[in-house]
Amino acid sequence: MKIRYFDNAATTKIKKEVLEKMFPYLTQEYGNPSSLYTIGRRARAAVEEARQNVANLIGCEKNEVYFTGCGTESDNTALKGIMTLEKNKGKHMITSKIEHPAILNTCKTLEGEGIKVTYLNVNTEGIINMEELRNSITSDTKLISIMFANNEIGSIQPIEEIGKIAYEKHIIFHTDAVQACGNLEIDVKKMKIDMLSLSGHKIGAPKGIGALYVNKDIEFKNFMDGGHQERDKRAGTENVAEIVGLGEACKIAKNTLKHHIERLKELRNYFFSEIAKTDLNIKINGSIEQRLPGNSNISFKNINGSELLMKLDEKGICASSGSACSSGSSMPSHVLTAIGLTKEYEEGALRVTFGDENTKEDVKYLVENLVNIIHNIEEK
Ligand code: PLP
Repeated sequence: MKIRYFDNAATTKIKKEVLEKMFPYLTQEYGNPSSLYTIGRRARAAVEEARQNVANLIGCEKNEVYFTGCGTESDNTALKGIMTLEKNKGKHMITSKIEHPAILNTCKTLEGEGIKVTYLNVNTEGIINMEELRNSITSDTKLISIMFANNEIGSIQPIEEIGKIAYEKHIIFHTDAVQACGNLEIDVKKMKIDMLSLSGHKIGAPKGIGALYVNKDIEFKNFMDGGHQERDKRAGTENVAEIVGLGEACKIAKNTLKHHIERLKELRNYFFSEIAKTDLNIKINGSIEQRLPGNSNISFKNINGSELLMKLDEKGICASSGSACSSGSSMPSHVLTAIGLTKEYEEGALRVTFGDENTKEDVKYLVENLVNIIHNIEEK
């Protein structure tokens, strides 16, 4: 059976060009980038080329990019690296209620260490309120960490406005851009972003590689102790092949961004219009306008989301009921709760996220199957 993959927010297929670029570094180019002989120097050059490609995608300088093991590590490094640095004044930070667990659970740990955290509300579209942000700032606030775009409902935050406020108040601004990177235009300097997390496997590179951008004027504490890699900020021999893969994925993303965004939007809008033509009773979760191009999240009233996913799987369709990290748990989604969804809609939420390989034909197949499956479940 043909697999129709509509879960590109969970992870993406590795791009062929990325794999080809990585291959030599998994075979003959096995040198350690810290070694001084030729194959070591070639590995170093490959890591630095990749660093430049990451920097080009988000508009920063090459030496402001640190490679990490994943988006989660980037988030941990940003939050702990700022909030636990002795030298930095301030024991308060601000985040939102709809962050990824990589942020929320890091905040919990920090709270255990005496840090005060304010969790901003979001409106029914999943967007924070700027007035609430302004009012939450105190003389003790050291960090604002607000995600660029949400992984479940795709809502895009007013990043430039947040950056402006943080800049005026001399507060460090971090954004988790794991979902946004490669799917939206990002310019960290224009947007006054001080720190940004990204992850390879959401943009056609492998799982287990991430990066953290840190403005060169900002001091942060290293998260790992060990050797001098990544300018003493991330010890451990560099994962050369995956770094090369991430660099190539960023280069492709930069070169194809406009077309990629248009294509995903077209598929997403086609899905919304096709589903609206059916007799299914649905509710769109999140914003229509301020939304990641490839994200759709809809709810079917009084439908069990897990049952729906299993029935879709029988037809070769991969989708999600929430974020991959929380699937398998029976806990309601903290994001859907935060936007005020009632239980009967929360349980029947379906996230469909589009990627390079999807076609309109696939979307038609998805809608046809949704109609049949929902009718069958309702008739039971
Ligand atoms: N932040 C967001 C918004 C995400 O969607 C994810 C992954 O789903 C992460 C962080 C974690 O990234 P990684 O899987 O690379 O650790």
